[in-house]
Amino acid sequence: MHSASTVLAVIAFSCLLAGLIRAEEGPPAFWKTRLSDIEDVLGSVKLGEVRKIGESYGRRPIYLVSYGEKEPYTRTANFSSAIYSGHPEAFCRRERQARPVLLIIGPVHGGELEGIASCLNLIKVLETGSDFRGRPWPGISGSADKLRIVIVPLANPDGRARLPFDSFVGKDNETMHKYSQGTRKDGSLYGWPGMQEIHPMAGDVGILGACFTDGGVNIYNDCFFRPMAPETQTLFGLAVDEAPDMIAGLHSHEMPAEFLQTYLVPERLRKWTAEIQRRYAELMQKRGLPYTPPRETPSDAFELSEALYHATGAVSMIFEGPQGIIGMSHEPASCDTILDSHLVMFEFLIELGASPGGYMDREGAVRGDWRSGGH
Ligand SMILES: [Zn+2]
Repeated sequence: MHSASTVLAVIAFSCLLAGLIRAEEGPPAFWKTRLSDIEDVLGSVKLGEVRKIGESYGRRPIYLVSYGEKEPYTRTANFSSAIYSGHPEAFCRRERQARPVLLIIGPVHGGELEGIASCLNLIKVLETGSDFRGRPWPGISGSADKLRIVIVPLANPDGRARLPFDSFVGKDNETMHKYSQGTRKDGSLYGWPGMQEIHPMAGDVGILGACFTDGGVNIYNDCFFRPMAPETQTLFGLAVDEAPDMIAGLHSHEMPAEFLQTYLVPERLRKWTAEIQRRYAELMQKRGLPYTPPRETPSDAFELSEALYHATGAVSMIFEGPQGIIGMSHEPASCDTILDSHLVMFEFLIELGASPGGYMDREGAVRGDWRSGGH
């Protein structure tokens, strides 16, 4: 017979052991966010086409994976000149029945691991019909072949390489600020928006935040007319070449998932991004998944999502997924919820692109009517 104290000691030891085992387990196997995971998953691609499109400041490769043939177009003008001419299709004349192009840009903020995990799971779905949990996504599989889908799983490999863990789930806000946004030499946090005031980030730097490249550039707020970062140049080279109809840039925040409206674009297009934001929230509600109710987040800053519109005419939006940190107002999301938030978003965008209107708004005024023949 055990004495009460022995029983307590055994229970305490078991709890400690279970805790240690859990700590060693780390994130679940489907949660793939390491640079080596990207290499592994891209190495297994059979249906898609894998290409190295550039190198980071720290000489790390930037990859893309594409699905669906790249269809030809003719171009007689850059986008600014084309839209000023009244004939935006001069930037990209494709056959009307050509596949719409969806460009997914994985994290430019290298610590926003959630976008890497979701891109790699999307690739798995496009290859096999199921994600790395074995869960099928018939909405993705059923519509993907009507599009060309171009995925950059990670746009800022330097930032990712500096992050010393594989998931933010269960971590606190301070840890996120420390590693994503960075610290001064004395260990104090730059925080946001303090991190934006020095760019490129240099000088009084203890931890260089994962938001930055090794060159200290925050790609999202690079100078788009004279880019400082090779990563930014790579993304614009890709986007202008692909002439996508829709661009989704993947980010993460403390709150549940949402699309953000894009502001410094034509009013018609801003309204359409509000509609996409609303439709995604509605879909998440139907699926019983947490979402941030549609809201306004206007900003005077001309940022990557806007710049990509002005370079290509695409409907260009930011998707903010949940990060899983212990937030001030929300329960931390699990890896499952984070992945579902992203995959529902991919499914929504793929089904939208495959629908008769494609990525056009109701009046057909956005992007789609540029296809050859016009109206
Ligand atoms: Zn971000």
